Amino acid sequence: MTVRTTIIGCSGSFPGPDGPASCYLVEAEGFRLLLDLGNGALGALQRHVSLYDIDAICLSHHHVDHCIDMCGYSVARTHHPDGPRPRIPVYGPARTAERLTRGLGLEPGTGMTDAFDFVTLSPGTIEIGPLRVTVDHMNHPVETFGFRLEQAGGSLAYSADTGVCDALVELARDADVLLCEASFLDGPGLPADLHLTGRQAGQHAARAGAGQLILTHLVTWNDTARLLEEAGSAYRGPLSAAVPGQDIVPG
Ligand SMILES: [Zn+2]
Ligand SMILES: [Zn+2]
Repeated sequence: MTVRTTIIGCSGSFPGPDGPASCYLVEAEGFRLLLDLGNGALGALQRHVSLYDIDAICLSHHHVDHCIDMCGYSVARTHHPDGPRPRIPVYGPARTAERLTRGLGLEPGTGMTDAFDFVTLSPGTIEIGPLRVTVDHMNHPVETFGFRLEQAGGSLAYSADTGVCDALVELARDADVLLCEASFLDGPGLPADLHLTGRQAGQHAARAGAGQLILTHLVTWNDTARLLEEAGSAYRGPLSAAVPGQDIVPG
């Protein structure tokens, strides 16, 4: 796979002391795609790429830890001293523009649509630049999409936020890498249809036959070593936890 994915932020639910909430920079053939832009990510992103070299953005859902830095990014694109930058496409759930415009504190129909062309996602496969992108609904309290990115025969799947979900197994089927959320440690009384435990992330990777499992959406109050241990009880392949700044180059 000639795609490089850089972990910009992998902190679950809110930024941690060492990194932002969810954001992944995917680069293929000079094309740069952001998967999610959660709180804190706009700052860290600039260590890796100019804000004006992003070609497209995919947003998994409307929880702030996955999309709220779009508000600051719209300001950066619209009010640059050299003039507004061209709109770039933003793929997301229905009403993404309205949701983010409320985040900016502006009236509907202003602000966000000056900076971005919004495209409403639905389950299926689309081409974004050189990437073949397949999306499907995950199991989360608001409309949420998981992603499978393919290019040159390689593949990476991203769970976004989800509870136990057969559609995630299909997105990750034989993928080189599954970037899978693991927000909970095993324990009694966990809420259903919200997030995965490390063990459940491992079970999804094993069922999918994924070549590698990287745990992400790591919540600061969890012990990552324990999460990895629990995931390793269900998945025997290469297993790690995401680290901000890390590059993933499968192959
Ligand atoms: Zn989240
Ligand atoms: Zn969420």
